[in-house]
Parts: sequence; C-alpha cells; structure tokens
Amino acid sequence: MTTLSHPDAAVGGGSRADYDAIVVGAGFGGIYMLHKLRDELGLSVRAFEKGGGVGGTWYWNRYPGAKSDTESFVYRYSFDQDLLQEWNWSTRYLDQPDILAYLEHVVERYDLARDIQLNTQVTGAAFDEQAALWTVSTGDGRRYTCRYLVNALGLLSKSNIPDIPGRDAFQGRLVHTNAWPHDLDITGKRVGVIGTGSTGTQFIVAAAKMASHLTVFQRTPQYCVPSGNGPMEQAEIDRIKQNYDTIWDQVRNSMVAFGFEESTVEAMSVSEEERRRVFQENWEKGNGFRFMFGTFADIATNPEANAAAAEFIRSKIAEIVRDPETARKLTPTDLYAKRPLCNEGYYETFNRDNVELVSIKENPIEEMTPAGVRTADGVEHRLDVLVLATGFDAVDGNYRAMDLRGRGGRHINEHWTEGPTSYLGVSKAGFPNMFMILGPNGPFTNLPPSIEAQVEFIAEIIGTAERGGRRTVEPTREAEQSWSATCEEIANMTLFPKADSWIFGANIPGKKRAVMFFMGGLANYRAQLADVASDGFRGFEFSKAPETSPA
Ligand SMILES: Cc1cc2nc3c(=O)[nH]c(=O)nc-3n(C[C@H](O)[C@H](O)[C@H](O)COP(=O)(O)OP(=O)(O)OC[C@H]3O[C@@H](n4cnc5c(N)ncnc54)[C@H](O)[C@@H]3O)c2cc1C
Repeated sequence: MTTLSHPDAAVGGGSRADYDAIVVGAGFGGIYMLHKLRDELGLSVRAFEKGGGVGGTWYWNRYPGAKSDTESFVYRYSFDQDLLQEWNWSTRYLDQPDILAYLEHVVERYDLARDIQLNTQVTGAAFDEQAALWTVSTGDGRRYTCRYLVNALGLLSKSNIPDIPGRDAFQGRLVHTNAWPHDLDITGKRVGVIGTGSTGTQFIVAAAKMASHLTVFQRTPQYCVPSGNGPMEQAEIDRIKQNYDTIWDQVRNSMVAFGFEESTVEAMSVSEEERRRVFQENWEKGNGFRFMFGTFADIATNPEANAAAAEFIRSKIAEIVRDPETARKLTPTDLYAKRPLCNEGYYETFNRDNVELVSIKENPIEEMTPAGVRTADGVEHRLDVLVLATGFDAVDGNYRAMDLRGRGGRHINEHWTEGPTSYLGVSKAGFPNMFMILGPNGPFTNLPPSIEAQVEFIAEIIGTAERGGRRTVEPTREAEQSWSATCEEIANMTLFPKADSWIFGANIPGKKRAVMFFMGGLANYRAQLADVASDGFRGFEFSKAPETSPA
C-alpha cells in the first residue's frame, strides 16, 4: 500500500484543509470510494450521508418486494476475493434486507463507520479557485474544506413526487417507495399504488399478497418478463464461487454486465419458429436484461426485432390475464425500449380478486380526498395507504438539488441547461478536483461493476495528482463535449430514445430530455477508461502547485 497523505492535508492547495477528500453518499459507490481513498491512498477522508444508515438505495427502499433484478452472484463488489468466498446468499435475487446487510458488513469489515457521518445532508459545495479547495456545507450549518470532492449521490436516489391536487387532504398514509417508513405494515389494509415501473411492479406483486385490497393506478402498461426467482442450491453457489475469476472476467467484458452471455444472433436472421423458441426459453429462464440482450443481439436496436420481442410478451399477457378488459389495459403497444423489467408473476397478480387495475391514462386521477383518490369517472377509491412508486428524478436530480458551484461560482445548473454532461461519467469541466460516481453519461449496466470501474479510475487519477504534487485536475471542455457526442451517437443507434422513460428524463414534467447514459457497454467503457489513463489521463488537465505555496 502506498500512503500519499500530506501531513497537513495542504500540499495541493497550499492552505490547510479539514480533509484531503470528502465523499458524499454512503451507498455502493461512497463506501468503496472511502475505502480506496483512505485505506489505499492513505488520505484523510470524511463521508457524509443524509440517511440514518449506510447502504444508499438499500437503506431507503424498504417497501414490500424491494429487491435487485440483477442476479445475486453479480450484484456485489468483486474487489475483495475473500469476501466473495465468505459471503453467502440463498435466492437467485437479493431482497433489500440481504443487500443492506451485505453493505453494512463491508462497512464493518473495513472499519469505515468511524469516517462516515450519518444524518448529514450536504446542501452545497463551492470551489475556491484561490485556495484550490472545496468548501462543503451541511444541513446543520457547518462547513468543511477539502481538496477533493467525490459525489456518490446515486442515480436513482432523488424521489419524484407527483403533484396531485388535494394531497394534504388525504387522511391515510401517503408514502414514496424511496422513503418507506420503518414502521409501516400494509397487511390487511386497503392500499393504492401509483406507478408501474421497476419499483411499482415489485411492490404490486408483494403487496397483493398482503393487502386486503390493492388498487393499481397505471399510467403506462409495461413489458415485464418472469424473473425466475427462487431458492438456490448450496452446490450451485459453491460452483459459482469456484468460478468467480471467470465470471467477473466475463462480466467486465460484456455489454450489460449481468452475468449471462449476450446473444450475437440477429433476430430476423432466424425463422419465426426459432425466434419463438428462443423467446420461450428465455422467458422460462427469467430475467429482464437476459430477455432483452440474451435472446437476440438487436432487440434494442432493430425495430423489427424489437417488435417481435414485444409481440411475444403481449401474447403472454393474453394467455395469462383472465379478464379481457384487464388484459387490454395491461398490454403495452409501444416499443420495448425501457430498462427491462422482470418479476415473480406480475401479470398473474391481476387475476387475484383483491387486485384492481385503473388506467389513469384513460381515467385520470382528479384529486386526493380525505378517504382516498377520486378518478375522472367520479369513483372514489377508498384507501388506508397510498404508495407513490413514481420513481426518481434520475441521474442529475441530486446534483441539481445541491448548491454546487465550480469555477467562477457558477452553479451546476448553469452548466447543464441543455441536460447533464460529464467527461467519462466521472468528472465535469469547470469543477476541478471534483469527481462523480454514476454521474451523467456513465454506463447503462448492472451497476456494481461500473461503480467499481469508476471508483478505481477516480482513485488512480487522484493518486496520480498526489504523487505529482498537482494542485488541480479537471477535464477540458473539449473532452467533455466529445464524450457527450459519443454518448449521444451511441444512444441514437438504439431504440431507447424513442420510448418515454426516466433513462432520458422523460418521467419528470418540465425536465429537458437528454442523453444521460453511455450505452456502449461495460467492456467498451472500461477500455475507454484504461486508454485514457494509459495516455497520461488524456482529456484532463493537471495544474501545478504554486512554488510559493506556504509550507
Ligand atoms: C429499488 C431499486 C432496485 C434496484 N435494483 C438494481 C439492480 O438490481 N441492479 C442494479 O445494477 N441497480 C439497481 N438499482 C440501482 C441502484 O441504485 C444501484 O445499483 C446502486 O445501489 C447505486 O449505488 P450508489 O452508491 O451509486 O447510489 P445510492 O445507493 O443511491 O446512494 C447514494 C447515497 O447518497 C446519499 N445522498 C444523496 N445526496 C446527498 C446529499 N446531498 N448529502 C448527503 N447524502 C446524500 C443518499 O442518501 C444515498 O444514501 C436499483 C435501484 C432501486 C431504487
């Protein structure tokens, strides 16, 4: 281990800072970043987390049914070989408590808690060009200085709360899935849920088995395939553990990093019968990403291939859902080009007597009343609990929520008028010594392997700046523009921009639609990072510490 810490945390900036680095957020990203900077680079680091515990997504999302849709064996860190062998799991997908327990264990394993300050929201951060220091402000009115700022704010982290007339009149409980109260039990209650995305569909399947009555307010019908969840044999887990080197190698060299082989066969190159056989086989295997990327190579890029996959799922809805009117409402007619969903019996859930489907596209919500929700047809849906599964102001939401200012005191919003941009998803021109984990235009994949790639790259660049006695490191505007253009070009080769989804910001009223992901896959992304690093961090400018800087 190389220890780079400056005795007074001052060499780069020339003036004393409270910390070498501040990390904001203590989810998958913040936890690993803290470990890297503190334990491997030897810097003094403080992490601030607004939640009352670590875990990020998995601290906040405690709603019934909350789980990963990445399979358990690759929804974890890969950097610690011993941890990979020691940590067990028992189901194909991890439930929220399992993931939270895992992340809490990592924090304990590396003794990170002493440097994580919980219940502390960062309200702003401003770069002082004179001193080359960041000043970070917290909700309790305190201010801290640091030389490096790493934002690990999460890309699905800022709740989207719809503005429903009469919201305050409702006398039941109104909750967002991303802030699920620890004491809320919906057993035997009349429950309503707005939203049928990843979260909504998970919640619906679980809540139907708990609530006395569940009303699903659906804006957009969804393509959802089975997840194939279930218990896993210990022998299978042992086999995975024995093969982890090969598994991670495959993951890192794949597109979506979900741990399955992606197809290289084009859908229209085979007969209709063969296509149906492949779709059926993958329907039975389960997993949304597998259905989109493991069946054929071009479901997300070729309209004909996409239509064939969509038609297959539609035929399943017709087979599964008994009531024709419910089936009609549940059947999507648009492209199959959003983050793919999977679940344990989503369409089957609508055959239950206690589940009712209301299409709010056809019959909008007019208002909330003291007793529930009134729709345009005049019906009052009586509820004890209304759940907002309305998702997130994704990717840039938490950045814009902070008073984040770079060079010249310019707010991040002034830079992002046309949508959020970055260089490589980890840095931003005009924001020296600031890094982002899962910032805009990072990879669209199973996220832990992308987070690891980013954390390792950020640690490498900070280590390089430290060893060279550099004062600041920052991407050039040209590098950022070129990365944005690359991301846009790749996104436009896919069908994703043609569907209204959070991936492009379309779920938030008034949000400008923009490309927010690098859709070129993890293998290409990692290659890009490696290439930039080996070329002297091409696209970044390092400034020297002034020679007169005080000791
Ligand atoms: C229900 C759900 C299921 C998911 N399932 C999957 C899956 O199966 N596979 C997958 O790849 N991804 C999944 N995701 C995405 C998931 O968010 C990532 O996999 C991963 O957890 C992100 O880690 P992170 O550390 O980047 O962000 P997060 O886990 O979101 O952590 C960010 C943290 O930053 C904190 N924070 C933000 N702003 C501030 C501030 N101003 N001050 C202080 N603290 C702040 C937040 O409180 C939060 O704790 C899922 C997301 C959700 C919501």
